Amino acid sequence: MKVIKIFPVVMIMFLVSLLFGNNLKAEVFKATAYCSCKKCCDKDPSDKWYGITASGKKAKWGTVAVDRKVIKLGSILRIKGFPNTIFRAEDVGGAIKGRHIDVWFPSHREALKFGVRNISLERVRNG
Ligand SMILES: [Zn+2]
Repeated sequence: MKVIKIFPVVMIMFLVSLLFGNNLKAEVFKATAYCSCKKCCDKDPSDKWYGITASGKKAKWGTVAVDRKVIKLGSILRIKGFPNTIFRAEDVGGAIKGRHIDVWFPSHREALKFGVRNISLERVRNG
């Protein structure tokens, strides 16, 4: 009887430790937003580098700009609140320094709507 009573307690402790482990992995970053427009990137749509990130890939939903001293380019990231998106560190920006990421949006309006937030970020793969 005693073993049966202890079992659920052990299970709960195991689940709590899993949650705690995940929380340790998550890091708080400042997040801002940008798009490919001239205001954000200072590139005209006629520019051949328009919408192209520092990694040479075209910016799309999931693209984030990072400080490559903090997050290596090519890293795969998860951001709390966006469970269906795999974010990729593919871009850099002069104003992106330290624990700060810039999330790409398809329009300037959406980028403005996102504003500035503190987000919980998890590194799925480094570099
Ligand atoms: Zn913009």
